[in-house]
Amino acid sequence: MNAPLIDPFQRAITYLRVSVTDRCDFRCVYCMSENMTFLPKKELLTLEELDRMCSTFVGLGVKKLRITGGEPLVRREILSFFRSMGRHLETGDLEELTLTTNGSQLEKYAQDLADAGVRRINVSLDTLDEQKFADITRWGRLPQVLRGIDAAQKAGLRVKINAVALKGFNEVELPTITQWCAQRDMDLTWIEVMPMGDIGNENRLGQYWSLKDVRAAYTQSYTVTDLDERTGGPARYVRLEETGQKIGFITPLSHNFCESCNRVRITCTGEIYMCLGQEDMADLRPPLRNFPDTNAPLEEAIRAAIALKPKGHDFDYSRQSLDGQMSRHMSHTGG
Ligand code: SAM
Ligand code: SF4
Repeated sequence: MNAPLIDPFQRAITYLRVSVTDRCDFRCVYCMSENMTFLPKKELLTLEELDRMCSTFVGLGVKKLRITGGEPLVRREILSFFRSMGRHLETGDLEELTLTTNGSQLEKYAQDLADAGVRRINVSLDTLDEQKFADITRWGRLPQVLRGIDAAQKAGLRVKINAVALKGFNEVELPTITQWCAQRDMDLTWIEVMPMGDIGNENRLGQYWSLKDVRAAYTQSYTVTDLDERTGGPARYVRLEETGQKIGFITPLSHNFCESCNRVRITCTGEIYMCLGQEDMADLRPPLRNFPDTNAPLEEAIRAAIALKPKGHDFDYSRQSLDGQMSRHMSHTGG
């Protein structure tokens, strides 16, 4: 094995998140505008290029691969990519292959994903109310997603629900969503809404709801114990003693966990972002596409990029202005 990827702050890079498309069959109001211009297909890495890219990272010590988007399961033939990545699970070089999905295509693909070696998935779902679901996703339909979750559990996939915390939107659903997850034995993580991309003036559907307040809301109905667990990501966890449930909180805006950050992101065009909250990136497509017969230039470019991984990000809501606001969409870097 080649020397592992270590950044200038001595963090080992073992987790790669890859966006395989910028397209999506939903238009969540906090993520996209209704009329999105998507990239021309030739800009995207082909499935073969994605395979080479991910396999190169695995060769450099990446142990966990998360596939995201856009909606990863709307990319044509994406299952062949999952099957192909499964070979790294078989050799043990890769420990986990997973994805983040809106769930719309799970009814069709859950069993194939399980067969490819996927064991756990994250499904994004912000409300259990059919009308509110249609409002927040614009194009999504709740029953389809619920059928997808059923199919995933039936296929033996462990499902974690990710809900974006939106004041005045799903605030009132906190107990319902929590109980629903408990009944179905699914973990639940709340995500703080981030200032990403130009999404038009759609804030009326929900506003920043600080996870400190979400946690406080839990204490009204439950005994909440903070857990020490860390995953190298921006999540922290509590346990609800009454149900034994573990609830996660992802506060990307806090700097708390940058020091243990173990991840980088690749966009669907092959750009590597060393930090979700920084504009710094490097384009890995030229060394990949221009050298089809050797991965050496790609490896060199990856190492050069990792050497530039910043210490942390600059998001800051505390001054009431969105300092550090990002101009790119979440669907570009893949959340
Ligand atoms: N389409 C898939 C999905 O929705 O799960 C994967 C891509 S989506 C960009 C990944 C995650 O980013 C989702 O959980 C979504 O809720 C979250 N997300 C999108 N825009 C966000 C924002 N502005 N702030 C916080 N989370 C956001
Ligand atoms: Fe699509 Fe996911 Fe963005 Fe919603 S959050 S628009 S499902 S990419």
